Amino acid sequence: MNGNNTLKEIAEVLKSAKTVLLFPHVNADGDALGSCAALTRALLGLGVQCRILIEDKIADNLAFLDDGFTTFDGNIFGAAPDICVAVDNGEPDRFPKRKEVFYTGRTLVCIDHHPTSKPFADFNYIDPAAAATGEIVYDLICAMGAKVDKKIAEALFAAITTDCGNFQYSNTTRRTFEIACELMDTGFNLVEVSNAIYQNNPPQRIKLEAEIMGTMELCGDGKVAIAYVTQEMLRETGARLEDTDGIINVLRGIAGVEVAALFKENDEHKIKLSMRAKSYANVSEVAQEFGGGGHVRAAGCTLEMTMTEAIATMKPHIVNAVNK
Ligand code: 5GP
Ligand code: MN
Repeated sequence: MNGNNTLKEIAEVLKSAKTVLLFPHVNADGDALGSCAALTRALLGLGVQCRILIEDKIADNLAFLDDGFTTFDGNIFGAAPDICVAVDNGEPDRFPKRKEVFYTGRTLVCIDHHPTSKPFADFNYIDPAAAATGEIVYDLICAMGAKVDKKIAEALFAAITTDCGNFQYSNTTRRTFEIACELMDTGFNLVEVSNAIYQNNPPQRIKLEAEIMGTMELCGDGKVAIAYVTQEMLRETGARLEDTDGIINVLRGIAGVEVAALFKENDEHKIKLSMRAKSYANVSEVAQEFGGGGHVRAAGCTLEMTMTEAIATMKPHIVNAVNK
């Protein structure tokens, strides 16, 4: 399968289905979940059964997006889904525990914006120019002829604001603002959504943030900030790994820092590395070299080694990326 289908084609395929199962990536972020929630609402409104299959608990600050849409049950429809859709990711390895269920779908669709994603499904729409998958889903919902109501607008706004750093990052385009304007026209409650996402930290997250900042190390002439979080730190603070989302931005926010790298020990004792660049470094290249991917300024990979080894291995590659 080469290249993209049109959104019209994908809209028609989705509308003709009886059952659609959506697959956000692991540790679903605002874009993955917001895009899935918006698509679910639109499809339900058109009489198509639609659910979001997840494999880990969703972050507390995104729970408002889930109106009973998410499930851990791959057999939720009692039969193979007509359509399975990879949302905000372009490879079933991004949802490892649900991969088998994905391939039971009679038709496979991929809707994504990661430049490292390749078309792999029966129908694909991958647009790296979109700041968020939520932008694509907005156009898709319009192509389906569904109405973008307040609840859909809320979900799409959540998708867009989280992926473009609330309209700060280089992926933000004229189109991003245009869609945001069209969402505003629905009259959704911007303050309520923004507060739910950004002003809603559990206290243990702030404690964890303090612990993580205690591990911070500057290298590469102060252009690289490295920090880590271990399972022990999670136990001590009572926080969850999902609570680390966004903490990396504090590291990147340091004056003179170009790349922030946060090493996270997951419950399988693998090290998940997140990287964020401020203005010029290509962290996607670093991630890809180690089997990961993402965007030029936001990327990640998983390392099967100890924390000490992971940091020692990656540090020269990250420093190299800021000195290119
Ligand atoms: P995060 O650091 O928030 O986990 O990820 C940053 C970006 O890189 C996201 O767009 C995410 O989808 C992507 N990403 C993170 N880890 C991986 C990975 O292991 N493989 C691929 N292909 N993309 C990743
Ligand atoms: Mn995204």
